[in-house]
Amino acid sequence: MMSLNVEKIRAEFPVLHQEVNGKPLVYFDNAATTQKPKSVIDALGNYYKLDNSNIHRGAHTLADRATRYFEDTRTALKAFINAKEDSEIIFTKGTTESINLVASTFGRKFLKQGDEILISTMEHHANIVPWQMLCEESGAVLKVIPIDESGEIIFEEFEKLLSEKTKILAIVHASNALGTINPVKEMIQAAKKQGAKVLLDGAQSTSHLHIDVQELDCDFLCFSAHKLFGPTGLGVLYGKRELLEVMPPYQGGGEMIKEVSFDKTTYNEIPFKFEAGTPNIADVIAFKKAIEFINTLGKDAIKQHEDALLDYAVNALSEIKGFIPVGTARDKVSVVSFNINGMHPFDVGVMLDANGIAVRTGHHCTQPLMQRFGLEGTVRASFSVYNTQTEIDQMVSSVIKIAKIKN
Ligand code: PLP
Repeated sequence: MMSLNVEKIRAEFPVLHQEVNGKPLVYFDNAATTQKPKSVIDALGNYYKLDNSNIHRGAHTLADRATRYFEDTRTALKAFINAKEDSEIIFTKGTTESINLVASTFGRKFLKQGDEILISTMEHHANIVPWQMLCEESGAVLKVIPIDESGEIIFEEFEKLLSEKTKILAIVHASNALGTINPVKEMIQAAKKQGAKVLLDGAQSTSHLHIDVQELDCDFLCFSAHKLFGPTGLGVLYGKRELLEVMPPYQGGGEMIKEVSFDKTTYNEIPFKFEAGTPNIADVIAFKKAIEFINTLGKDAIKQHEDALLDYAVNALSEIKGFIPVGTARDKVSVVSFNINGMHPFDVGVMLDANGIAVRTGHHCTQPLMQRFGLEGTVRASFSVYNTQTEIDQMVSSVIKIAKIKN
């Protein structure tokens, strides 16, 4: 496999070339959001400079052009996750809204008292709270798959929790807090045997792993553009046509209708039925450049680079006295979660920032997961395709100094 020219890649990311607190920025907060290449930033500016227009309704050239570019992104996304058709790609505000959309439409229509929704201990709050809200409303019951000390799903326990009562399995593909990659293919197969529908939270997996929704046979996949080198405030809901068609709309308004009268309103076809109002046109158009950026590098090469960084970081950090890893699953995306013995994660984060190193600290929107490990939070370093071993060396030498304070 070709190794990546990381210096060339870094040159595409203006934000990386700055000093923070007098030190070159080391950006290791990629699980929170990735940085944006010039192609994405330029596409945003170009849309407003050259093409700005509302889409789908205009008779004029600009509207036509903007509509074409907007729909081109949908087509690129269809290919990116291997959906069957463009109409199975719905634009939302992000993973959070995509999950809420499914819970409030599919969930409200099809779940009733006593039905069960299965999630795991390592879910992000975005894949917990919408289901809790649905349970409150419908009388359905939320069940939680336990995990082991390494941060892996306990598969036998998962199988025990599955039954014909399970209507939805909503599971994170890769954990943002631990990096664990879940065995989603096997989980989907097991859930399908019970007739459950499966929603994958792909917020963390889509930037690192090959995703083929037809091969996985998931019913829904949710992800956010901003974690994929794209703009903020934009996400995707993939859903199988036959499900999207029977789901009621999420919001009412323009675009989602076929005909409106005071007596009866009929709804538009998918995907428009779920895209009420003027969408986030500029960001959708720019998102295509992010997909092209990933496709040009290739997911295999990206994963290989990130895996190498992960191994290198874990090996070096593990040598440090006082280093406590959190989440040691066998199969991980490039996330290292840890604590330093005797120190609050926030303090570690602030000291790293003083050295120009950006990490995330806290519960990572996974409070039940932190409770499972008896922790208030962790320090999380997450790597992307533009990160280097030299940057990891910088972090490791800072962590050595920080850990010495208490160890
Ligand atoms: N799910 C996971 C696993 C995440 O990591 C995140 C974001 O951190 C989300 C859901 C929510 O994504 P967003 O805030 O972009 O809607």
